[in-house]
Amino acid sequence: MSLDFVNTVGWRLAEYPSEYLRSYGDLLDWGREAGLLALEEAEGLFRRAMLDPEGARETLSRALALREALHRMISGAIAGESQNESDLSALNRELSIALSHLRVVAADGACSWGWDRSGDDGEARLDSPLWPVAQSAAELLTSERLGRVKVCAGKGCGWVFLDESRNSSRRWCDSRDCGNRERVRRHLARKRTSGS
Ligand SMILES: [Zn+2]
Repeated sequence: MSLDFVNTVGWRLAEYPSEYLRSYGDLLDWGREAGLLALEEAEGLFRRAMLDPEGARETLSRALALREALHRMISGAIAGESQNESDLSALNRELSIALSHLRVVAADGACSWGWDRSGDDGEARLDSPLWPVAQSAAELLTSERLGRVKVCAGKGCGWVFLDESRNSSRRWCDSRDCGNRERVRRHLARKRTSGS
């Protein structure tokens, strides 16, 4: 899920990258799609953001800072480079906020991990969508799965993905998208060189 979050920039390596997180509402939409927020949670946060636009802006800028730090950390890990101290601090700051809201909750006779989303005033905290992202990023960065993270081979794409194929042969973020485009490009190039 932290990779999906890093991928909220499209065409990162192209001339004109697309920013998908342009507002706090976009962050909530992403949280809905990623399965982090139930509809009523997202609606509650949206109402809260309307009452606290400053807080919503601040949360969005924290989200973007976290995303860029994660992108640099993951790219650095793929390239075998050592991690940048300020990126580590940025992640650890968010992680420490996140973990202070992590709880063991009981439902139907079983215990599981959950988040206490309410702040001191009992209202949902605007930054709560960032908590599971920080937690999942920390888990990925410290796990063996990190060795399976790749950057899409599609020209300009820049999306990262977890290659879970048995022989680690996956090259594109999504074969229906970048892979197809790449196959079409090669097909056209072959046609041009063969003159047909
Ligand atoms: Zn791609």
